[in-house]
Amino acid sequence: MTKPIRPLSLRVSQIPASATVAMADLAAAKRRKGVDILDFSAGRAAESSPDYINQAAAKALLKGDTHQTMAQGTPEYRGMAARKLLRENGIKADPDKNIIATLGSKNGLTLAMLAIINPGDEVIVEDPCFVSYQAIIRLCGGVPTEVPISSENGFRWTREKLEASITDRTRAILFCSPQNPTGTVHTGPDLDIIAETAQKHNLWVISDEIYERLTLGSHRHTCIATRPGMQERSITIMSFTKTFSMGGWRIGFIFAPESIIPALVVIQQHLMTCAGSFTQAGAAAALEKDYRPEVKEMWKDWEKRCDLVVSEINRIPKLSCKPPEGGFYAWIDIKETGEKSQALAERLLKEQHIALVPGSAFGSSGEGYLRMTCVKSWDDLRQGLDRLRQGISNE
Ligand code: PMP
Repeated sequence: MTKPIRPLSLRVSQIPASATVAMADLAAAKRRKGVDILDFSAGRAAESSPDYINQAAAKALLKGDTHQTMAQGTPEYRGMAARKLLRENGIKADPDKNIIATLGSKNGLTLAMLAIINPGDEVIVEDPCFVSYQAIIRLCGGVPTEVPISSENGFRWTREKLEASITDRTRAILFCSPQNPTGTVHTGPDLDIIAETAQKHNLWVISDEIYERLTLGSHRHTCIATRPGMQERSITIMSFTKTFSMGGWRIGFIFAPESIIPALVVIQQHLMTCAGSFTQAGAAAALEKDYRPEVKEMWKDWEKRCDLVVSEINRIPKLSCKPPEGGFYAWIDIKETGEKSQALAERLLKEQHIALVPGSAFGSSGEGYLRMTCVKSWDDLRQGLDRLRQGISNE
């Protein structure tokens, strides 16, 4: 008699699917079956990556740049990243000592976690937060500690709340600014709360800055590594996924202290070998001295789309939405509808053929909200907002 196949690892069986990617996949599958779905779930813009960046990658590819690079990334790419950090973030980085190329933010986060946490170590995260943070921490053997952020406090941690969550096992604080899903851009005083807590308890800070260029109105991004005493304990995660609409490229980088880069390189040697050769070449072109007018235009247009979504949502009875300070999502308060976020998202998909992400997918404090991606085409947004209005009034 054959024995039953062994079960999967506990590690994987405890991890839920990514709600955003799963919703986008479901929407794509329905569309393939001919259902007219409008997808506002995953954070993917309508635009493709800019042509001059595509061409730089294609040129590298055609000239035979098809081999593995150094695990740390090409010197050219790291040099461009270092110049960008100086120009935009006021950071002096040594391309050999402080930078490693990654395959986007998720790879960067994974390298960071594997380098700093032992099994059972705790990592503090915002609740709600990006759907993959908790999963990545758990896959790396850690334990996420959710510390709620709520609308009363502009979706920011207070010093007291953060302090109260620290235990003997806490090793790191992971946060994101501009924040996904709430759109908060952390100010100097917000960053100081995190910085001072990290210094007091000797913690690493992992700062996910994937939306750094996408600040809205007068809000501006500050890198926590520039706060006093923070460069030596900050692991800054950068990516091209959102800013340049390059999600399919899988490219980003980490800026981190010299003390940790060699460990990240060893892990990358075994995990992914290196980031793509021609993707590094294309991404280096994206980091040229000044952004091309078409890129700046795209960002401006995204801001206008965010404005449209927020103002239209605030005209729908029972829904409300504070203007995001950064990123490109609307964080829609649905509490007045009386429906749970998962049930409402499922109903909207079934009845109105629009895909939004239930707030509960981002953590228990995300209940009472839906997240909508605002950087879809103007036509899709207008139609989608009509369908949302219809769906809410059909309750
Ligand atoms: N961090 C945040 C906050 C995100 O919103 C996303 C994508 N939705 C990621 C990381 C993943 O980025 P990448 O595609 O570069 O891995």
